[in-house]
Amino acid sequence: MDYLKIKKQLMNKRSAVVKELDLLTEELAEREEESSEQTDDAEVMQKKLETLDMIKSFTDTLNSIDDAIKRIEKGKYGICAHCRKPIGNKRLQVFPFAIYCANCMDKFDE
Ligand SMILES: [Zn+2]
Repeated sequence: MDYLKIKKQLMNKRSAVVKELDLLTEELAEREEESSEQTDDAEVMQKKLETLDMIKSFTDTLNSIDDAIKRIEKGKYGICAHCRKPIGNKRLQVFPFAIYCANCMDKFDE
């Protein structure tokens, strides 16, 4: 597997996510302002919560990307963090941030 290529893809994805987070942080500041002026407006509050949710999910993605990059650098990428077996290229194509193999994932789900 071409780890350098994967790393490059992850870095690209990372900068896109960072950009998105910047925009969302700006948006949140605007929402904060709106909601401090219109404290009883449910729609304003709802939008603020939605922005917070998006920031949370983008932050999670960013952490997963950083983790995957670290694993590539340590030579652990593609190895299950639980059973130490290869995760498998097919699974990594679908879930590039996967840290467990499909077998272990199934066990965790039970
Ligand atoms: Zn495993």
